[in-house]
Amino acid sequence: MKLFRREPPLQVSEEPDCHEVAEVLQSYLDGELAAHDAGRVAEHLEHCHRCDIEATTVQQVIAAIQRQRPALDDATVGRLTGVIDRLVQPGEPPRPAP
Ligand SMILES: [Zn+2]
Repeated sequence: MKLFRREPPLQVSEEPDCHEVAEVLQSYLDGELAAHDAGRVAEHLEHCHRCDIEATTVQQVIAAIQRQRPALDDATVGRLTGVIDRLVQPGEPPRPAP
């Protein structure tokens, strides 16, 4: 999703944790990270099931937004973005199935 971006490109530390990955996930999926940063994120996704699911979910939400964009008002887009934000809550272990 290309919105107006004026921030400097995001940077990823050598071994990013889940929180860091979550923060750059959208940029990563948009292909906006530098190659070595994208590689670090990809590496994390490979061994972190939780972030991998998150990445897939975010991808699906972005795809849905793009498909629906002409029909969506700002409130709906905001709600979907809120869903992404809630998904991205580091430090919380995945809840066991009931
Ligand atoms: Zn992770």
